[in-house]
Amino acid sequence: MKIVMLGAPGAGKGTQAKMIASSYGLPHVSTGDIFRANVKGGTPLGLEAKTYMDKGELVPDELTVRILLDRVAQEDCKNGYVLDGFPRTIPQAEVLDAELTKLGEKIDYAIDVEVPDENIVKRMSGRRACVNCGATYHIVHIPPKKEGICDACGSELILRDDDKEETVKNRLAIYHQQTQPLIDFYSNKGVLKEVDGTKDSAEVFEDIKKILG
Ligand code: ADP
Ligand code: ADP
Ligand code: ZN
Repeated sequence: MKIVMLGAPGAGKGTQAKMIASSYGLPHVSTGDIFRANVKGGTPLGLEAKTYMDKGELVPDELTVRILLDRVAQEDCKNGYVLDGFPRTIPQAEVLDAELTKLGEKIDYAIDVEVPDENIVKRMSGRRACVNCGATYHIVHIPPKKEGICDACGSELILRDDDKEETVKNRLAIYHQQTQPLIDFYSNKGVLKEVDGTKDSAEVFEDIKKILG
C-alpha cells in the first residue's frame, strides 16, 4: 500500500502518517525529517537544504526528488510506504508517478488533511518537536507527559525555527501556489480521499482507517 499525505503545513500530516505507519506496518517517509536530519548532521545536503528551509521556501525539485527516490528504493519500502511532505509540487508528483509506472506500481491513496488557514498559524505556534527523534507534540492539543520533554526519548522539545509566524505565512502562501494543485492531480487519478483535519487527531485517524480498511 502506497499512501501520499496532502495538506497545508501544520494540517496534521506527520501526526497521521506516524499513526498509519505504526498501525499498518509501513515505513513513514518524511522529506522534512530527512532534510532536518541532514541539517543536524551538517552534511552537504543539509547545508544546501537549510538555506531554503529557514526562509520557508521549498528545496529545489531536483534535489528533493533524488533524495526521495533513494529512500523509497530501500528494502523496507518494498511493500509500500506513507509519504509525508512529498510530493509538494506537480513536477515532483510527475517524477514519482513516472518512476512507479516503470515498476508497474502506483499511489493507492492520496489523503488530503483539510484544515483552514486560520487554524494553521495557531497550530504551528504550539507545535513542539523533539531535537533528537523528531517526534512532534502540541502544547495544548497533544501535550507531552512532562512539559518540554519528549515522551519517546526524554530529549528536549523546541519550537522549530521555521514554525515562527512570519515563516509559516510564507509557507502557507507557497502551499497554495505550488502544493494545492496536487489535489486535482490525485483527484484526476481517482485516488484522492479527503478528511476533516480540524477534528481531534484520534478522530481524524478513525476517518482515515475507514478509508484504508
Ligand atoms: P511541515 O510538516 O510543517 O509541512 P516539513 O517538515 O514537511 O514541514 O518540511 C519542512 C521544510 O522542508 C519545508 O518547508 C521545505 O523547505 C522542506 N521540504 C520538505 N519536503 C519538501 C519537498 N517535498 N519539496 C521541497 N521542499 C521540501
Ligand atoms: P504537518 O506534518 O502537516 O506539518 P503535524 O502533524 O506536525 O503537521 O501537526 C502540526 C501541529 O498540530 C503539531 O503541533 C501537532 O501536534 C498538532 N496537531 C496534529 N493533529 C492535530 C489535530 N487533529 N488537532 C489539533 N492539533 C493537531
Ligand atoms: Zn524524542
